Amino acid sequence: MARSKDVSSLRPQTRLVRGGTLRSAFDETSEAIYMTSGYVYESAEEAEAAFKGDKARFVYSRYANPTVSMLEERLCLMEGAEACRVTSSGMAAVFAALMSQLKAGDRIVSSRALFGSCLYIVNDILPRFGVRSELVDGTDMQQWEQALAEPADVVFLETPSNPNLDIIDLQRVCDLAHAAGARVVVDNVFATPILQKPMTFGADIVVYSATKHIDGQGRCLGGAVLCSEEFCADYLVNFLRHTGPSLSPFNAWVMLKGLETLDLRVRRHCENADRIARKIESERPDVKVIYPGLGSHPQHELAMAQMSGSGGPMIALDLPGGRKQAFQFLNSLSLADISNNLGDAKTLATHPATTTHQRLTDDERERLGITPGMVRISIGLEDADDLLDDFLSALG
Ligand SMILES: *Cc1c(COP(=O)(O)O)cnc(C)c1O
Repeated sequence: MARSKDVSSLRPQTRLVRGGTLRSAFDETSEAIYMTSGYVYESAEEAEAAFKGDKARFVYSRYANPTVSMLEERLCLMEGAEACRVTSSGMAAVFAALMSQLKAGDRIVSSRALFGSCLYIVNDILPRFGVRSELVDGTDMQQWEQALAEPADVVFLETPSNPNLDIIDLQRVCDLAHAAGARVVVDNVFATPILQKPMTFGADIVVYSATKHIDGQGRCLGGAVLCSEEFCADYLVNFLRHTGPSLSPFNAWVMLKGLETLDLRVRRHCENADRIARKIESERPDVKVIYPGLGSHPQHELAMAQMSGSGGPMIALDLPGGRKQAFQFLNSLSLADISNNLGDAKTLATHPATTTHQRLTDDERERLGITPGMVRISIGLEDADDLLDDFLSALG
C-alpha cells in the first residue's frame, strides 16, 4: 500500500480532501473500506516480529486499521496536531482523553457549562477513582485564577458551551493552566475544527464528537482525540488498545468523506446561522437571541477573535413565555425537526431543560443559565429564508 501524496505543506481545504489517502494495489480513486478485524502473516517469524514491535504493520483492528488510519492522518493534517486516535463515539474520546492520563490523587478543573455526559464523567465517574474535581464558571477569569492558584493536572473545557454558547478565553485559560502544571483538554465540537484551532492558543489535547459536523449528515457516531506524539505514546495508545472503543472501518470511511466537504458545509451552516440570528433579533425584540456573532452577545469580541470571525453554526433562543412558549414554538415548526442531535445538514431544534439537561436540578440549570424558555437550534444547510419563514411563523 502506498501513500499517495504528502499534502502537509498544502492549504487546509486541500488537506481535507487529500490528506492521509492510502491507495491499494487496485489504484482506486476513493478511499477503500477495509472491513477486516484481523490480518495474516507470511510466516510465524513475521507474526513474532509484528508482536515484538520490530515490524510496523497492521495486526488487529482494535489497535489499528487502514481505513481508520487514513481518517486519523487526515484529522491530524486538519488540526495541525502531531497525533490522532479516533474512537467509536465522542464520549469515548472525551473519556479516553481524561481517564488515560488521570490517577487517584490528581486534580481536574473544568468549566461548569459542559455537555451533559462530559459533566457526568467529571462530576460522578472521576471522583469515584480518587480524582479531585472542581468546577468553575468558564466565563469568569477570577474563578479560573482562584482554582488554578494551586497545582492541577488537567483543565477541561468546552467553548462555545452547550447550550448557552458562552465563550471561554482559550489563551488566558491555557496560560493559567500551564502555570499550574496542568494539561488543557478542549472539547471543540461547537466551534467545529474549521473555525477554532485550540492548539494555537496553547491547548494540549483537542477532542471531537465526529458524530456532529465531521460526519455532518447524521449517519454515524465517532470521536477523535488530537494531541502530541508524546501524549499519544505515553497515555493514549495503550489505554485505547486495551479498553477497546475502536471506530468501525465503515464509520471511519463515512467520516473521511465528511471531511472532504467539511469546510464548505461549515461555512454554509455559519452563514445561515448568522443571517437567521440577525433577522430574528431585529424582527422579534421580545425574543432573546443568543448567538456569538451578534454584537449583543456578552463575549462577542472574544468570539470573533477566537473563532475566525464567525459566530458558529449554533444559535439559542430564550422565549419570554417560558416552557409553554418553547414547546409551542417547537410543535409549530414545519421544516426544522425536533431533535437533540446537532451538526446535521438538517436543522434540528431542542428544548435543553427537558431533554439534554433534564437530569440537572432546577438550581443547576439556573446556575448554567438554561432557562425554561430556551430552545437550542443547530442550523442546517437548507435555504436560510425557508428556515426564517419557519421560525418566524412558529414564533407566532
Ligand atoms: C455530542 C457531543 C459530545 C458527545 O459525542 P457523542 O458522539 O454523542 O458521543 C461531546 N461533547 C459535545 C460538545 C457534544 O456536542
